[in-house]
Amino acid sequence: MTTTTETYGVDPNPTPLALLLLGREADPRSERGVECPGDLPAASDPDLVERARAAKEKLGDRVFILGHHYQRDEVIEFADVTGDSFKLARDAAARPEAEYIVFCGVHFMAESADILTSEAQQVVLPDLAAGCSMADMATAEQVAECWDVLSDAGIADVTVPVSYMNSSADIKAFTGKHGGTICTSSNAKRALEWAFEQGQKVLFLPDQHLGRNTAVLEMGFSLEDCVLYNPHKPNGGLTAEELRNAKMILWRGHCSVHGRFNLQSVEEVRERIPGVTVLVHPECKHEVVTAADMVGSTEYIIKALDAAEPGSKWAIGTELNLVRRLAKAHPDKEVVFLDRTVCFCSTMNRIDLPHLVWALESLVEGRVPNVITVDPETEKYAKAALDRMLALP
Ligand code: SF4
Repeated sequence: MTTTTETYGVDPNPTPLALLLLGREADPRSERGVECPGDLPAASDPDLVERARAAKEKLGDRVFILGHHYQRDEVIEFADVTGDSFKLARDAAARPEAEYIVFCGVHFMAESADILTSEAQQVVLPDLAAGCSMADMATAEQVAECWDVLSDAGIADVTVPVSYMNSSADIKAFTGKHGGTICTSSNAKRALEWAFEQGQKVLFLPDQHLGRNTAVLEMGFSLEDCVLYNPHKPNGGLTAEELRNAKMILWRGHCSVHGRFNLQSVEEVRERIPGVTVLVHPECKHEVVTAADMVGSTEYIIKALDAAEPGSKWAIGTELNLVRRLAKAHPDKEVVFLDRTVCFCSTMNRIDLPHLVWALESLVEGRVPNVITVDPETEKYAKAALDRMLALP
């Protein structure tokens, strides 16, 4: 395997999904929804903060607002808890008295919250178009086709699917149905260790970088043990022999935010800030993670900054909303964004104050907008995969 853009980088053949990232168009194949219905308050309304506060107060314990770390400040201000996707889903499950879970995050996260909460609770996503480009890179049809390819190569029986939390409920259900587990960026190593106890190979979905970085840097596999399955090519672009020789079959998906960082970003920041510690998320490309000083999930990054010495210098390779908040929370340390260009998650950013106000005021008026529900069959298998993760040692 070579470290080319084709292998690690951004999709050279962008689909119409790219338009969705820019907030245009709608794609029924996508894990995200379509346009947000209803009349949104104007972004210029000077009373938005007051309106959000008043609606939240009226709803009291009936509503629980979750805020993902990558959300805007204006939204985080109203979150009852903040965290990564898995922590938030568990926090929601721990609040059975809340009738409404308003999930300020993206579609797959709201699905996971629906799976883990009771039937009496409804999960609301303030903007249905807040999806995740990475989750969209693995559709149920593509993954079923891949499994047929593995069967034809005679290896499906010895392959265990491991899916990243950042995947649609359909993909989680596929994983559960085929004896696999879900993982997060914090427990990917444990999930892979478990999977290799169950079988001889892993199909890792949908983030190639987390799969590769964990396998090579934490499990002792070589880059040659990994192959990249491209769902847009016949048989994934791989021969049966390549599949049979591989240990890790990586799905060709990536995060459009973390995939932007490159080796040059690391070299540049080291030159600009002597003594800087480079800390990146494992969704970054292998060459970036290898060049960095530290690597870890969003929760790990937050804890590392909390424990850092005053006066220390940090370049962080993750979403910009979080990096800005970390810089604000640690005025005694120098905290900069790893890249020189702006790098928000555009779909996370779709949840803004007007959408939050609209969702909360709708609930006050007795309308439950943008409810995210996972059908019972999908939920059953997706939950089996999530439960396997919870049972990991
Ligand atoms: S930051 Fe990346 S993985 Fe997370 S929601 Fe945005 S596109 Fe998806």
